[in-house]
Amino acid sequence: MIGERILQARKAAGLTLAELGTQLGITHTAIQKFEQGRLTPNSTQLLALAKACGIRTEYFFRTNTVELINPEFRKRVRFGKTAQEKVLIRATEQAERRVKLLGLYPIPPIEPFTVPKALPHKIGNYEQIEEFSEALRNAWLLGMDQISDLCDTLETHGIFVLVIDEENTAFDGLMATALADDGSIYPLIAVSKQWPADRQRFTLAHELGHLMLSGRLGEELDEEKACNRFAGSFLAPKPAVIQTLGQQRSELEWHELYTLKHEYGLSMAGWLIRAKQCSVITKNVYESHFIRFSKKGWRTREPGEPLAQEQPKFFQQLVFRALGESLITESAAAALLGIPLMTLFRQRQLEPEDDAAHQ
Ligand SMILES: [Zn+2]
Repeated sequence: MIGERILQARKAAGLTLAELGTQLGITHTAIQKFEQGRLTPNSTQLLALAKACGIRTEYFFRTNTVELINPEFRKRVRFGKTAQEKVLIRATEQAERRVKLLGLYPIPPIEPFTVPKALPHKIGNYEQIEEFSEALRNAWLLGMDQISDLCDTLETHGIFVLVIDEENTAFDGLMATALADDGSIYPLIAVSKQWPADRQRFTLAHELGHLMLSGRLGEELDEEKACNRFAGSFLAPKPAVIQTLGQQRSELEWHELYTLKHEYGLSMAGWLIRAKQCSVITKNVYESHFIRFSKKGWRTREPGEPLAQEQPKFFQQLVFRALGESLITESAAAALLGIPLMTLFRQRQLEPEDDAAHQ
């Protein structure tokens, strides 16, 4: 058991057997023996292993196990097998902490994920996706307003949302099913920390599309295209597009798109596409804007202030709730959050984190 954990921690840290061995001052064969369970590290070695892999020693002894099944990556080709494995291990580790926390509650704080019954069962063309995403918004009581915190919206509906600190820009996102050893199942969506919030939100909504549209799309429809349409319409539903831009327009102002991007958390390019999809502008107007977008380099980087990133806060809130209800100790809370105990004390008292630096 502990051997498997050491292997996972090493891979998640992106270290070879030899590199980890060097850091501990032992041979790579010794590390391999730890991983195979043929040798047990002593407490000093365990501390050193944890430090080298950037994790807490508790990780090695955790008993809740979660398996991520059917992982689907949203990535570029150059994001290879080893890099994927590393992301999977880190996502699994985060999912395990969530499962452990939920298991501590006598009454589960969230309902298990379900696909709402009211959603249309068959989608024959892309237009029908508008109706589909509006039905989902209604089922989730979201109305037609902007979704200010998409992570929170997904997490309260039983979906694990993780932000993975992955430097490689070829990684956008990941979807999988987290299967816990107690039999509970959670859909899981992970996004890269690298990207501005509008791109993260689009990835989250796109993956939500896969989850919701599964088995409903007509054969002639392309699933990726359908999920993109879903993402756009979920973030900026047609009634909102018409209400903000008007039924029909001969031209759009860039500043409008910029303001709406910050209001709805959908990129300027995304708004342009929505304006065309909702027949507010013609194909010609849309295309001429896109050419100008490309010339200005806005296809790669949009102008002005980037959208502030979303951070899943739901899990953190549940940790503090468990603390408030005396379901866990402070050290267990710190372990779940992956932070030092001192940091937890400060957070709990709402003291500034850099206080120590001034003393
Ligand atoms: Zn996709």
